[in-house]
Amino acid sequence: MYNRILVPIDLSHAERGKASIKIAEQLLDPGGTIIALNVVEEVPAYVAAELPGDMLGELQKNAEIALQEATAGSSRTIEHEVRRGSPAGVIVATAEELGVNLVIIASHRPGLADYFLGSTASSVVRHAKCPVLVDR
Ligand code: ADP
Repeated sequence: MYNRILVPIDLSHAERGKASIKIAEQLLDPGGTIIALNVVEEVPAYVAAELPGDMLGELQKNAEIALQEATAGSSRTIEHEVRRGSPAGVIVATAEELGVNLVIIASHRPGLADYFLGSTASSVVRHAKCPVLVDR
């Protein structure tokens, strides 16, 4: 039923991402692809100008490595995407650009059990043009 599934992963809570990958593995068609996405948050230009060296480039490289680790061991085809920007907007835009037919997102960061939906998750649910599965 789903042959391209996008799993956005907040790398500071990678265990939630691993749980979402497991759900994606169950729902994915044979021969389908899971796309694991991390969004490195942009900082304002005046802050970026003060950062030493290419710190955002380093963050992006580290995110690529962490995404590989978070998805290691899966028997399914997994592609990795690291993008920069505001997480919710980038998740919605990437889902459209890559033509996915399902997004699987965690409801909120661990420990905030009273939250119905975190800010990123709720924005993705409101704006995505494809189905969104919220893992609670
Ligand atoms: P909270 O508001 O409690 O921090 P969020 O809505 O931000 O919760 O996070 C819920 C989920 O949104 C995460 O588990 C992840 O799936 C996704 N998400 C949040 N931030 C990012 C990010 N920078 N890159 C990719 N996915 C993210």
